[in-house]
Amino acid sequence: MKNILVYSDRPESAAELVSAGQLIAAATGGTLRALSVNAPDLSAFLAARGIDVLEVRAAGDPVTDAAQMAAALREAADRSDAGVILLSSGRRGKEIAGRLAQEIGAGCLTDVGRLDVVAGRITGVRYALGGATEVFQAVATDRQVLALRPGVFPEAPEGTPGSVQSLDVQLPAPRVRLRAVNAKAGDGADIEKAEVLVVVGQGLAEQGELALAERIARGLGGEVACTKPVATDRRWLPEDRIVGLSGKTCRPSLALLLGVSGQVQFTVGIRDAVTIVAVNRDDQAPVASLSDYFLPADLKAVLPELAGKFPGP
Ligand SMILES: Cc1cc2nc3c(=O)[nH]c(=O)nc-3n(C[C@H](O)[C@H](O)[C@H](O)COP(=O)(O)OP(=O)(O)OC[C@H]3O[C@@H](n4cnc5c(N)ncnc54)[C@H](O)[C@@H]3O)c2cc1C
Repeated sequence: MKNILVYSDRPESAAELVSAGQLIAAATGGTLRALSVNAPDLSAFLAARGIDVLEVRAAGDPVTDAAQMAAALREAADRSDAGVILLSSGRRGKEIAGRLAQEIGAGCLTDVGRLDVVAGRITGVRYALGGATEVFQAVATDRQVLALRPGVFPEAPEGTPGSVQSLDVQLPAPRVRLRAVNAKAGDGADIEKAEVLVVVGQGLAEQGELALAERIARGLGGEVACTKPVATDRRWLPEDRIVGLSGKTCRPSLALLLGVSGQVQFTVGIRDAVTIVAVNRDDQAPVASLSDYFLPADLKAVLPELAGKFPGP
């Protein structure tokens, strides 16, 4: 079982899994395939990236039940002799990973942020102790299910086209039925893709100051993101704008951190930015050593002055 199978229902995540799968395939000599379920567009997208796609077309309700997905993956893994199954470590991917691993008797790692493959042995690197340290873990079972952190691996580009083959799978009856699809609360900003991020922390004294941060972000052609408490405690911004361990991993060209202390759970999501500029009135704050440029100053003065450099709404 030396082959590799990847699955995500989101094209960008699936493309990231393909590049991770290619890394493993190059080191182990395995063949990489992808699974797609009721998603012909995804099949075509993946085949354009040079891999063979196993496509399941299930009649009836959309396949939303993680148990059904685990069954489809088990079947696809058996038929393609896959010993390594790669999923995306979002909420759904993690649920499927656990179920699949249990069903096929495989070891499972989630939240993997890096893969090392040495002499055919895969080591997954994950954060531990709230992001303060990294652990290197290898699955000891024959088969392994690895869920990779979204936004960490590069998306595989198009290549010599692969194929799409249909896969006949008898799915178990769903225990969960899809009743409705409602857009997730949020405003559609994609902080993972932004070239410039203005990240606001609890150092902003009032919600009204957000407008100044937004003006700066707009002027720089970027987006506003935030630390976790700004979204979860103060509820000033939607949770899909959180940077960090429980939020998103971002790699902007420029990150401007305003009133952010720089705790490790936050910094793991921004430390790969090309240039980090921080404003904080405490010159001992951890963010001072993380940043390329640090301005020890009070935002009460800096925010209006900086925002004034850019046109208003
Ligand atoms: C399991 C776990 C997961 C977590 N995941 C995340 C995550 O994904 N993302 C995340 O962000 N956090 C996360 N956290 C929380 C994290 O530990 C920190 O609590 C959080 O990042 C702090 O946010 P902050 O920097 O906005 O606030 P604070 O730590 O309160 O820092 C505010 C900063 O603003 C400065 N300041 C205050 N007033 C002014 C002013 N007038 N002018 C200039 N500077 C000023 C202060 O000096 C201070 O440094 C997680 C925690 C745990 C336990």
